[in-house]
Parts: sequence; C-alpha cells; structure tokens
Amino acid sequence: MIFEVDKYRRDFPILERSVYGKPLVYLDNAASTQTPRQVVREIEKIYYTHKANVHRGVHTLSQEATAMQEATRERVRRFINASSTEEIIFTRGTTEAINLVASSYGSLLSEGDEVVLTVMEHHANIVPWQLLEKRVGIRLRVVPILADGSLDMEAYRSMLGERTRIVSVCHVSNVLGTVNPVAEIVRLGHEAGAVVMIDGAQAIAHTPVDVQALDADFYAFSAHKMYGPTGIGVLYGRRRLLELMPPYQGGGEMISHVSFDHTTFADLPFKFEAGTPDYVGIAAFHRAIDYIESIGQERIAAHEDDLMQYTQDQMLTIPGMRIFGTAPGKSAIISFLIGNAHHYDTGMLLDKLGVAVRTGHHCAQPLMHALGVEGTVRAAFALYNTRSECDSFIAALRRIAPMLS
Ligand code: PLP
Repeated sequence: MIFEVDKYRRDFPILERSVYGKPLVYLDNAASTQTPRQVVREIEKIYYTHKANVHRGVHTLSQEATAMQEATRERVRRFINASSTEEIIFTRGTTEAINLVASSYGSLLSEGDEVVLTVMEHHANIVPWQLLEKRVGIRLRVVPILADGSLDMEAYRSMLGERTRIVSVCHVSNVLGTVNPVAEIVRLGHEAGAVVMIDGAQAIAHTPVDVQALDADFYAFSAHKMYGPTGIGVLYGRRRLLELMPPYQGGGEMISHVSFDHTTFADLPFKFEAGTPDYVGIAAFHRAIDYIESIGQERIAAHEDDLMQYTQDQMLTIPGMRIFGTAPGKSAIISFLIGNAHHYDTGMLLDKLGVAVRTGHHCAQPLMHALGVEGTVRAAFALYNTRSECDSFIAALRRIAPMLS
C-alpha cells in the first residue's frame, strides 16, 4: 500500500507556512511533532462544549469531561497493551514520569543500592537519579556505547549484580537514533532482581510498544512527540509495584480521606495524580493515538526509515560530513556535524533556508562528552515529511557547507 503522505500533510496546516520566504521543512520532530487538525479540533470542541473539572462534579459537564479523560486512559492502555487502566498514570510528560519513579520507587532504596543507566540517556533519565543519589546514597552505574552508537551489552551484563535495584534505559536514543534491545535489557535486569524502567519518549510514535510482551516494569512517554497536545505524558507501571510505592505529590484527587490525624490515599491510578490534570489535553490525546493507529505504526516507521536512509546516503557525499550514530536498525534520526563547523552556525544557516533542525547537546551532555563534541545538529523525520523535503534539506546543506569550512 502506498504511503499517502500528501493526504496526511493536509492534516497539518503548519506545514503550509514559510520561514524567511522559503517553504518550511520541519525536521525537529524528535523534540516535538506537529499536531493534526483532528487533535486541535477536539481541543476546541472540549473547550466549547465539555469543559469542567474532572472527578469532582455531579453535574453533566463534569461527568462528560471525566468520561473523556477516562476514555483516553483506556485508549492508552489498549495502545501499549497494559493489563489494566490502573497501570496508566497521566503525568506532564516523560520527565515527570521518570521523576515520579525515581522519587517514589527510589524512596524504597537504601544506601549502596545501585541504579544502572546508559551514557546515551537524556538528562530526564539522569538527573532524577542523581537527586536520589544525593538523598539516599545510591550508586549510579553507567553503561557505555560502542563505536557505532549501539549499547555495550557486555558491559551492561557485567554491571548487573547483587546491589542492582533499578535499570533505567531509553528505548531509542534521541541523539544517535539507536534502538536498544529493550526486551533483552529487561530480561537481564529481572534476572539480576532489578526493576526495569524504559524511557520510551523517542520510540512511542515510531514503533509498536507492548508493555506486557516487553515485560517492562515502567514505561514513560510524552504526547507532544506523538502528534498530541503539549504538557501531557504517561507513566505505565506494573500494578504490584505501583501499589508498593508511596505517593509522589500530595493534594486533591489523590486522597481517600484527609484529617489532621490521619490521611489515606486514593486507589490506583489516582494515588499518583494529585491536583487538576490537563484534562482537556488528555481527552484530546485520544485523537492523536487514533491518528497514529489509523495510519499504522509500522507503515509510519517504514516511511520515516526510507526518508532517513535516502537523506543519510546523500549527506555522506558532502565533504567533511560526520554522522553520529550508525547502529543497525537505527530510528529516523540523523545527528551530524559538517567538519569542525559549530552546530549553532549550521542550524542558523539552515533556518534561513527554511529548514528547522535541532542544534546543541540535545539534553544529553554525558553522551556529547563520550562522543568528544560539544553538540551536534539533528534532523529527525516524522510521518508528514517527504522526499522532496529531504532534497531541499540536502540542497541547503550543499549550499552552506562551503561557507562553513
Ligand atoms: N527522554 C528522551 C529520550 C527524550 O528525547 C526526551 C525529550 O526530548 C525526554 C526524555 C523528555 O521528554 P519531555 O520533555 O517531554 O518530558
């Protein structure tokens, strides 16, 4: 079946705009994807017809808003094949989901316990564990990468031991595009008696995720990287573990009964959802998942992979081109530098030609250090990108490369 990219592009009005008089080529998709009309219309519909605080009112609007939020919880459950909606916790994003686990599950750890991370983690999967290191005295172990950007699995095995309590690893690297062997990582982590958390921020829009098949204990992702609204994310957690864990934040919604003598907490998932959530965004997030599934994750991935390969092959013909991350089966992300040109200069010049890319350390400074660079330029593809946009990007690179060398 052909991939009807022109039809899908019509769902994203922002793609029609221009930048500096040039048609926009949006390749900053690993940071945030654009949002289709189906999702934006849903947000408008909720604001105009159903807006009222959730789980609080007996009145019709509140009941409708609650039903819409809870319908999304069921939609997410089905999307990642969790066994129950009690295992789906709404957060502000991947970052908050990881902080929740590090803070709450982390409080069950003792001095000298070990948490295994990898050098390719986003700061969102490093700093919460460093805070725990300070608070509890846990020890961090960091798995290195091989020359092509794949994870050093030998080193991973050697770091698992009696004191390993948590392994927390990204499914896909936001810099290298490396797709980690997460099922194997989970299996080995469990063999060592650890719980395993997967940061799925860069995977969820590109690959089907089945948390039961993966056997992951925690899986985190953000809606804004999957054509959904900003400010919402999901933490999937295994029910047995969530039940053991103390609340992360206190407030309305997460309690069963409050008195100054004794407060009891709500059941899952509400125990971890203090305060008014972004219920409009959550309800509209439903349409983003519908959108992805209506096209098909495997078809989206095949399209993005074609664009990435096509672009990368041509980039390699540009003198001085350095590409970071060439692991087999990598996701549709290309991190690069042109010779010793500064990533910022490259990004600025590309912007003047209408091409939006990411520049900098990509919130992965330890990885930049391991790669021996300060930052890179990153192009990341989404379902609405086209070969003709790849051609514009390549033409822009060919034009600016001589200026930068
Ligand atoms: N983890 C990875 C791998 C990411 O790429 C990102 C965002 O770029 C995050 C975590 C943080 O996501 P958010 O800012 O949506 O919480």
